Amino acid sequence: MPNTPQTPGLAAGRLPTETIEANFADLHPPLSAHEAAVAADRCYFCHDAPCMAACPTTIDIPLFIRQIATGNPEGAAKTILGQNILGGMCARVCPTETLCEEACVREAAEHEPVQIGRLQRFATDHMMEKPHPFRRAAETGRKVAVVGAGPAGLACAHRLAMKGHAVTVYDAKPKPGGLNEYGIAAYKTVGGFAQAEVEWLLGIGGIEIVPGKALGAGLSLDDLRRDFDAVFLGIGLAGVNALGIDGAEDAVAFIAALRQAGDKAALPVGRDVVVIGGGMTAVDAAVQAKKLGAETVTIAYRRGRDRMNASLWEQELAQTTGVRILEHAAPKSRSNGALTLARTADGPGGLKETGETIALQADQVLAAIGQRLDAAFGLETEGGKIKVTGAGRASLPGVWAGGDCATGGDDLTVTAVAEGRDAAEDIHKALMG
Ligand SMILES: Cc1cc2nc3c(=O)[nH]c(=O)nc-3n(C[C@H](O)[C@H](O)[C@H](O)COP(=O)(O)OP(=O)(O)OC[C@H]3O[C@@H](n4cnc5c(N)ncnc54)[C@H](O)[C@@H]3O)c2cc1C
Ligand code: SF4
Repeated sequence: MPNTPQTPGLAAGRLPTETIEANFADLHPPLSAHEAAVAADRCYFCHDAPCMAACPTTIDIPLFIRQIATGNPEGAAKTILGQNILGGMCARVCPTETLCEEACVREAAEHEPVQIGRLQRFATDHMMEKPHPFRRAAETGRKVAVVGAGPAGLACAHRLAMKGHAVTVYDAKPKPGGLNEYGIAAYKTVGGFAQAEVEWLLGIGGIEIVPGKALGAGLSLDDLRRDFDAVFLGIGLAGVNALGIDGAEDAVAFIAALRQAGDKAALPVGRDVVVIGGGMTAVDAAVQAKKLGAETVTIAYRRGRDRMNASLWEQELAQTTGVRILEHAAPKSRSNGALTLARTADGPGGLKETGETIALQADQVLAAIGQRLDAAFGLETEGGKIKVTGAGRASLPGVWAGGDCATGGDDLTVTAVAEGRDAAEDIHKALMG
């Protein structure tokens, strides 16, 4: 008998393959040319565009929207990609509802912002089919090592290559892309887009990617400082915080397995899934568990919904997918397929347990309680991250860092891109100055 959402324990194929495929279809399907023209027409092309100030990569949003409105998507793509070389991925994954679209004057006036993210996707998709639009400067003879092929490392490598430097990118994983490839929810980046975008980015030339090579395992920071003129670390947060609950799995590993699966119907998922956490990772894990066919999925968060890192939009996405959000509940123990959670309340002295408990059926518990820096390689740290000053300068000469592993900025794809790009500009100045 085939498995169903009600099959007890962990089971694969809870839904027919076609249903799972439909569940994982593009969350924001691309706009047609006509839809893009209509969406672009809503922009006021504000002089002091607040949307632009809210974008960590400071894309000239009114300019690119005007370029779309005047039938020049290629020009629009160049405007975007000149500031943010991963503008295609950011168009898919940026929480625009808390960035550019939240700041849009039409959001304030009508609660209906210009669809900046989808317009950005319209423009950048156009460019993915075209030859690489930027030219590499004459070779400088300088060599830079980049560690980590995530958004920070890739943005840094591209900008350095554009300036004429020779860049070698080392990554521990077999495929480049960082969390674009192993972390972002499958329904945000369908059709192998992460790898296609890396391929396209490498079209600039001058970048060599060395996969399966980790700093700290046969490669040291001293080696890199000796062999290269500068080093950029974009190693993200590879360590996970442990939950201390029997049998709890890491939500990021669950998502990575989903992203790498050829056949999602072959992935086992629980009947009753509980995800612990309140951020984007918790929502992504919960929504994807539901889309795989779990019968019940609950996000348990120890504080109130207003304190969740996941945006309201993401919380709504979870709920409309059928995920329940349980506030003020902190996990205590698990036995016989049930998870016991303590009820909590905010008080003057901080978060407290009220003494009440609640029990939930849970044959799969996913921990999404944050990642941490694995190793700092002898660099100074602050608040658990590599301490940087200015445009990513770390505590050792000739070493820069950016993205999630470094201090400053939110842990978002677009912020990692901005930091990688800015560090590259600073490295270029230091090498050529
Ligand atoms: C599950 C999940 C979902 C997310 N969803 C979103 C989203 O929808 N939108 C959004 O804006 N942000 C999202 N984020 C956050 C976003 O993915 C990160 O902020 C972004 O990827 C950070 O980029 P990075 O380059 O700093 O690090 P990463 O993307 O983590 O890349 C780091 C790279 O370094 C490599 N590496 C690590 N250690 C070593 C080493 N010692 N030697 C060599 N290589 C090493 C890794 O293999 C990896 O490829 C999500 C994060 C997670 C975990
Ligand atoms: S704030 Fe909105 S209307 Fe104004 S330029 Fe930006 S997208 Fe256009």
